[in-house]
Amino acid sequence: MSLPSQHDIIIAGSGPAGLATGLHLLQRAPELAQRTLILEKARHPRPKLCAGGLLPDAVTRLELLNLDITEVPHVKVPWANFTFQGRGMRMTADKRDYAFYVIRRHEFDAWLASKARERGLTLQEETKVLSVRHDGNGVIVETDRGDHYARAVVGADGANSVVRRAVQPESSRNVARLLEVLVHPRNGEAPKGPPSHLPDEAYFEFGCLPYNIQGYVWDFPTQEGGAPRRCWGIYDSRVDVKGDRGDLPNTLNEFMARYGYTPADYTLQAHPVRWFDAHATFSAPGIVLAGDAAGVDAAFGEGLSPALGYGEIVADALADAFAREDFSFSDYRKRVLGHSLGKALRTRTFTAKMLFSIRHPGIQRLLWWRLNGLLHWYINRFVINWTER
Ligand SMILES: Cc1cc2nc3c(=O)[nH]c(=O)nc-3n(C[C@H](O)[C@H](O)[C@H](O)COP(=O)(O)OP(=O)(O)OC[C@H]3O[C@@H](n4cnc5c(N)ncnc54)[C@H](O)[C@@H]3O)c2cc1C
Repeated sequence: MSLPSQHDIIIAGSGPAGLATGLHLLQRAPELAQRTLILEKARHPRPKLCAGGLLPDAVTRLELLNLDITEVPHVKVPWANFTFQGRGMRMTADKRDYAFYVIRRHEFDAWLASKARERGLTLQEETKVLSVRHDGNGVIVETDRGDHYARAVVGADGANSVVRRAVQPESSRNVARLLEVLVHPRNGEAPKGPPSHLPDEAYFEFGCLPYNIQGYVWDFPTQEGGAPRRCWGIYDSRVDVKGDRGDLPNTLNEFMARYGYTPADYTLQAHPVRWFDAHATFSAPGIVLAGDAAGVDAAFGEGLSPALGYGEIVADALADAFAREDFSFSDYRKRVLGHSLGKALRTRTFTAKMLFSIRHPGIQRLLWWRLNGLLHWYINRFVINWTER
């Protein structure tokens, strides 16, 4: 029987959280980055269900890694509309000339992986992590292509994380459900009832709250090979565990039908997002979690800027662990909660619990139609722009 190969650090998953961890390690402790192995079950470019909304916080995080988002195919969205029954408010970024970018994840992640490789990180694709376990001195990582042994392991393997099972036995909690479709734009066709959606703007419609969906329906402009497309989807945070469960597919179909789409036009695809719970466990001896595996935004399901932000927190924790020869990661929770990202994610969980507990249409109308100036301020001040705090 062959002995497990030895590494200082293994990162499970090469999505934004895993790659940002590697890229931050290169900046923070280049010698450790050289002794890091990233394991990825797929091969880039690989499919990843995601609307690809990349907020200014994510752009800032990329800039800190000397990465330029305009190298990736994208749509720059000038305005994001937040509505209840078609009426509400429009937002754009304060210090930028857009509300957010929309990228396609297979293109974005492949680009990030190519940057990681160019800068010297080792990424082994088509290797699925099957289990991780601490054996007293280090962590044994079992994969479908043999075993590895590492002094520290990063679980950046997404919402259905295998690594998390070694850290959070309570792993069935805090899971949001999402459905998404990609469609051809219905330019020029009259919508049935609500105000038209403009071709270059993005929409977050909270009119699904009375349908027992604890979230919103989205409609973003995007592209496929440079040709315009719309990405529609529905987000159900399920922050209120006792609340009734709405019917996600039928609600999304009903909202899209108002804009002329029929279910024959698309195939619904589903994937979960794990949201941030300040009381959850984020580490175990030798193991830390990042990105979706740890928990991201409960209010909007925004996980890209958090995934990139976790990269910095994890890289700092790893560098300190090797400097002190202490791999307990007992201070990792404090690092997450004390970072501006952890503070923002905590606020977003609170916001989701407040906002989505109000199902009465009259109160939601009051919020989005009359008190939208207050909401605008709150979102800017407490929900987004965490990289500026
Ligand atoms: C429908 C939908 C729409 C979304 N829209 C947005 C949006 O518009 N904006 C936004 O900011 N966020 C959005 N999100 C959230 C966002 O996609 C995630 O938060 C983000 O991808 C988290 O990044 P990550 O690196 O933690 O995980 P992932 O991106 O999931 O990456 C995990 C990586 O690990 C690999 N992997 C998984 N298991 C294993 C294993 N056992 N062994 C080895 N490798 C493994 C995967 O192949 C993948 O490459 C959306 C999510 C969904 C489901």
